[in-house]
Amino acid sequence: MELEPFVFRHDGVLIASRERGGDAELNREVSRFALRELREEEFAVFTLDLCNNQVDKHHSRFPEGELEKIGRMVPGRPLMERHDVRGSLPRGMFFRSRLHRDGDTLSVRPDVYVLRTEENHDFILNIEGGVYRETSIGFSFGLPECSVCKKDMRTCDHVPGQSYSGERCHYVMRDVLEVIEGSVVSSGSQGTGFVAQARALPLVDALSAARDSFHAPVEVWSAGIWNR
Ligand SMILES: [Zn+2]
Repeated sequence: MELEPFVFRHDGVLIASRERGGDAELNREVSRFALRELREEEFAVFTLDLCNNQVDKHHSRFPEGELEKIGRMVPGRPLMERHDVRGSLPRGMFFRSRLHRDGDTLSVRPDVYVLRTEENHDFILNIEGGVYRETSIGFSFGLPECSVCKKDMRTCDHVPGQSYSGERCHYVMRDVLEVIEGSVVSSGSQGTGFVAQARALPLVDALSAARDSFHAPVEVWSAGIWNR
C-alpha cells in the first residue's frame, strides 16, 4: 500500500527583528529574490525559530539530518499573515537560513524579509510590537517514525505522549518532502477563525486522519447464504 505524504503544521516563534547595519551580506541576499537591488530602508527582516531536534509539545522530533534539509528548503518559501481574510498574497519571503546550536538543541533559524509597503505597515508594526510572535509552518513528510517500534506511526497503535516500558512515545520526522509556507499569527490565536489556506493540519489531527484512512476497513461483498 502506497502511503500519502504526511502533512502537518508546526508551531514556531519569531525571535528577533534585525537591527540596521552591520550585515553587509543582507542586501545582497535579499536581492537574490528581487528584480532589482533593494535599499535597506525598503524592507524589514525577522528571524524565526522554526523547529529543532528536541521532542516538542506535540511529541514530535526532527533528526538533525532532516533539519539541515529543511534549512535548505526554506529560502524562497512565502510568509503569510494567517488572519488576512484576503488570504492568498504573501507578506514576505524566506531568503536564507542557518542552523543554531545551543547545548543539545539544534534549531533551524531562517530569516524572512517583508517589504515596507503601505499595505504591510500594520503587519510589520504588529511583529515589531510583539503582538504577532507565533508562527506556523506547513511541512510534508514521507515517514513519521514511531520512537517505540520504529514503524511508520500511521500503521502502529502506539500513542504519542504515552509511556511504554518507561519510554515516552514520540514521532521522529523522516524523509522531509516539502516546506509549504510559513504563517505569522497573533499570540494565543492558534486555530481560531482561520480558513485553511494550506492542506496542513495540526500534528495530532494529521496523525488521526492518516491513521483513519490507513485503518479504514476494506469492504468486501460476497454472496452469502443466510440460512443456517
Ligand atoms: Zn509504534
